[in-house]
Amino acid sequence: MKISFLGAANVVTGSNYLITTDKYSFLIDCGQFQGSKELSSLNHEAFKFDPLEIDFMILSHAHIDHSGRIPKLVKDGFNKKIYSTPATRDLCDILLQDSGHIHEMDTEWENRKRMRAGLEKIEPLYTSEDAILSMQYFNPISYNEIININESIKLRFRDAGHLLGSTIVELWIKEGNTEKKLVFSGDLGVKNRPILKDPEYIEDADYLIIESTYGNKLHENVTERVNKLVDIILETVKKGGTVIIPSFAVGRTQELLYELNKYYEDKERFKEFINIPVYVDSPLATSATEIFKKHIADFDEEAREYFSRGDDPLDFKSLKFTTSFLESKKINNSSTPKIIISSSGMCDAGRIKHHLKHNLWKEKTSVIFIGFQAKGTLGRRLKEGASMVNIFNENIKVNAGIYCIDGFSGHADMNGLIDWVNHFTKKPRKVFIVHGERESSNHLRNLIIEKFGLDTVVPNINEAIEV
Ligand SMILES: [Zn+2]
Repeated sequence: MKISFLGAANVVTGSNYLITTDKYSFLIDCGQFQGSKELSSLNHEAFKFDPLEIDFMILSHAHIDHSGRIPKLVKDGFNKKIYSTPATRDLCDILLQDSGHIHEMDTEWENRKRMRAGLEKIEPLYTSEDAILSMQYFNPISYNEIININESIKLRFRDAGHLLGSTIVELWIKEGNTEKKLVFSGDLGVKNRPILKDPEYIEDADYLIIESTYGNKLHENVTERVNKLVDIILETVKKGGTVIIPSFAVGRTQELLYELNKYYEDKERFKEFINIPVYVDSPLATSATEIFKKHIADFDEEAREYFSRGDDPLDFKSLKFTTSFLESKKINNSSTPKIIISSSGMCDAGRIKHHLKHNLWKEKTSVIFIGFQAKGTLGRRLKEGASMVNIFNENIKVNAGIYCIDGFSGHADMNGLIDWVNHFTKKPRKVFIVHGERESSNHLRNLIIEKFGLDTVVPNINEAIEV
């Protein structure tokens, strides 16, 4: 069997692994490269395999860096089954269309420039129509069921606790008379996070592919982060200001609503909160919240209990989902204190830019970052203390308070990853570290070698390793 690391090797994004056995070829994930221009340009390169010759695909979860090149894969000829959980399928249905729409808009803008320069037009990576067409290949299977994909390959999904529907992939692969077990961690979540179950431990593997987003970092404590958030909200409101939270539409926003719901419905504390309206101003976040509510069985016990009492933990009286652009604009017409949750999470697109334009110059405003801000984004510039930013061709003075709360990450930190490896009762023969910046992956490799003495490597992008 050969594993080719075609993405998310020495970088975080573009997750894509090709497994070739004596009889079959299949993919795990087909994600988009994200971040710098150099990385994004990789999305437009031809696949390093013939999509027509791939026998099936397995998708670990719906995030675009794992799923975002599926419509391109289908456009280029792939026409077989894509195995995922039902929740991943439903989330991909909205995320891939949204991604297709973004590619169309970006290309339109680029082509206007090219036309003026007398250059030839370019095609979008894929369109929202391509995204819709690719959905027919999804083949949802539940957690914990062992599925015979064919006579020599079996698959089981376990809960990764990273995003609704996210999985750890277990594969049993037979070549001749020998069977080997390959485990892919997917993106591993964090214990005790709201809504989601804890990541499951896996008992055994011959070969392990493990993520390393935070292979060299430790996270802030979960309770601490909520206390911090609540303190900033109350202080801002006391001085009559607005709180703006740039948030990823899928996952992070729902988690935030779940935490806020506790305060808005708490017998003791609701008096402090009841008069602070909360706006979720992102059409994608609104649709994603509806999908979350369709998959309550995937929630952890605490979240399921809310629903069994007839209480929706993703909704409370002061919460409003705005849909139309007109409603969105109206939010800034009133000067009463409020909380605005909007996307994109890194402030480089979407309605959040309008809210920042209207509020950043006011001293009473607080902006709270709860997610990763990539280099080159407006979010990163604000986080790094810019005193003036340009939004929609207008210079805006930054007088608002800028805060960062790190504990909201959806990825296990260094200790979480080591604890997860430690729980294998039969340790893998070989470990491959992926989905991390180079320093982070190398750090995790050294830790695994030091603690468990396992044969551990950090593959390079496009490297193929025979096992
Ligand atoms: Zn992810």
